Amino acid sequence: MSNNKILLCLAHMSGQEMKYIQEAFDTNWVVPLGPNVNAFEEDLEHLCGQGKHVVVLSSGTAAIHLALVLLGVGREDEVICQSMTFSASANPITYQGGTPVFVDSERDTWNMDPNLLEDAIKDRIAKTGRKPKAIIPVYLYGMPAKIDDILEIARRYEIPVVEDSAEAFGSRYRGQLCGTFGDFGIMSFNGNKMITTSGGGGLICPDEVTKKRIMFYATQSREPKPYYLHKEIGYNYRMSNICAGIGRGQMFVLEEHLAHHKHLCDRYVELLAGVDGITVHTNINDLSDSNYWLNTILIDPTKAGTDYDTVRQHLEACNIESRPLWKPMHTQPVFSGAPAYVNGVSEELFSMGLCLPSGPWVSDEDVERVAHEIIACCKK
Ligand SMILES: *Cc1c(COP(=O)(O)O)cnc(C)c1O
Repeated sequence: MSNNKILLCLAHMSGQEMKYIQEAFDTNWVVPLGPNVNAFEEDLEHLCGQGKHVVVLSSGTAAIHLALVLLGVGREDEVICQSMTFSASANPITYQGGTPVFVDSERDTWNMDPNLLEDAIKDRIAKTGRKPKAIIPVYLYGMPAKIDDILEIARRYEIPVVEDSAEAFGSRYRGQLCGTFGDFGIMSFNGNKMITTSGGGGLICPDEVTKKRIMFYATQSREPKPYYLHKEIGYNYRMSNICAGIGRGQMFVLEEHLAHHKHLCDRYVELLAGVDGITVHTNINDLSDSNYWLNTILIDPTKAGTDYDTVRQHLEACNIESRPLWKPMHTQPVFSGAPAYVNGVSEELFSMGLCLPSGPWVSDEDVERVAHEIIACCKK
């Protein structure tokens, strides 16, 4: 076996990107608007269906921030957020001066536990006399959350939902694209996500009017006057025409990437089947169609005779990149003061889980090498 470095998830170009970038240069559209931006938004709207509108932005984090701006999150407001996630899901709540309220995960999807969500809503209303201003469920590693249950609760309490589908580009639930169920949905085109614009994001909006409002805030809240008139605080969050050109090119490889990530999942399942104490995280039923952005495993130390960090270090020594799962936000020093509704699941997952190489550059041979080295640890 070769000993080439195997990485978690690297960007992979279709070859069409340069054409759109060249067009932008040739027409001097080297600015944060232009034909690539409009065309990329159309591509994404077509993918979303459901009559949704999309605004492309400078990052997924900016998309979450603008959704919260539009929902009027401010000081004194609380926003419920899944605890087990990347910090970018929660950080924008604090940009608005709001307080995150963290809700733990359920064991099967690793995403927001709907029952705990309802407990949290009731308790926040009892304690503060006010409803949380929004709910941010996350699709961890691309795995669909129980979004129907979450939406049912959210609608009953009339609280808007911002789906953090940054990791779930192309994932579906009941055949519908993740990010198109709630009031807003998030896309990320960072370098390590399903497709990339080198850095960028998108906000899925319910209608044209909302899209216009988002575009207004994303371009410094400039009023429609010949001079620069501002009545509200704005942001510089639009995607550039160059980055959107990369995005247009990437759309050609989306289906291929999705198929490859899913294929790698099948290979991991096959190769690690029957290894005591190792479980590959997979779709919980036929409704759920994960993009398997990152394939993940749980290692039960009592059964496997090894633990996630021993395996991680062994893989590293073998030139294979792996990574612990997201450390839950309610255990992060920066959020130590935030209220949290905890059931132990996310902390347990964090103490057992690893993300494995999953990108377009990972070959069948690479997966065999990864699985071989994981099994080698178990037998030690
Ligand atoms: C990547 C990511 C984001 C933020 O996206 P950026 O484009 O990197 O700002 C938000 N939430 C989750 C869960 C992510 O993984």
